[in-house]
Amino acid sequence: MPPHPLHCMALTPLNVHGAIILVLAACLACGCIAGSGDTADYAHDTLYQTSTIDALLEGVYDGDRTMGELVEVGDFGLGTVQALDGEMILLDGVAYQVCADGTVHVLHDDTFTPFAAVTRYEADVSMELSGPLVLSAFEQEVEALLPSRNITYAIRIDGTFSAMRTRSVPAQVPPYPPLLEVVQDQSVFELGRVQGTVVGFWMPYYVSGFNVPGFHLHFISDDRMAGGHVLDFELEAGTLGIDDTPDLFLDCIDSPLFLEAPLDHETGSSIGEVER
Ligand SMILES: [Zn+2]
Repeated sequence: MPPHPLHCMALTPLNVHGAIILVLAACLACGCIAGSGDTADYAHDTLYQTSTIDALLEGVYDGDRTMGELVEVGDFGLGTVQALDGEMILLDGVAYQVCADGTVHVLHDDTFTPFAAVTRYEADVSMELSGPLVLSAFEQEVEALLPSRNITYAIRIDGTFSAMRTRSVPAQVPPYPPLLEVVQDQSVFELGRVQGTVVGFWMPYYVSGFNVPGFHLHFISDDRMAGGHVLDFELEAGTLGIDDTPDLFLDCIDSPLFLEAPLDHETGSSIGEVER
């Protein structure tokens, strides 16, 4: 990541109850991940996020961060690809794109993303799961395990699924339509019985506006031939990992499209329509 010549004006960490460091980078004049240009401090227990879910809902599909920059600050996460060209899965340091036609590609370091959330994954809790376990039951069980509902957790399942339903979205051209319109044309994939990894997060209620409260999960098959944004699954058996991720770095897009997007209103209900 190139060092930035300007200091970020809004990069003062706020300690909230000594546990959560919320760094809101307004980035009017800067796009730096760290004021010093050093990403090492953000490597562990930090969710690094580029742009906000509300900006994505409003059609801000051009980002200013590359996959190469993302893998400097995380090896695990999810998001989308420039021009909303499919679903992105970052797993073990490799970024995959699941296109609307169902094909899977390894993303190049110089590919931009308009929305992504990544972390360095290190499971704090690991346990074996045995099914059948459908997504809704899985969510209830995992939520009951979470020590707090007030921080983010990275969620990983390596397993065999008797059913997996995912979706992806087609690339868009400017002027970009809102995400709610795009998902009317989303591709839904019934993957059947499949082995693979679920990659995602559970986030607290207070992230409304910049990310998705509750579960947001993506999937990539072991053979790297299928995946997408998870709509439903039935787990046969697998290993669940949960990684406490209490810190947050929010990196806004430094572009007129982002800076002029109408983000000063509630979008809670449309997040549910788009993500579920
Ligand atoms: Zn998604």
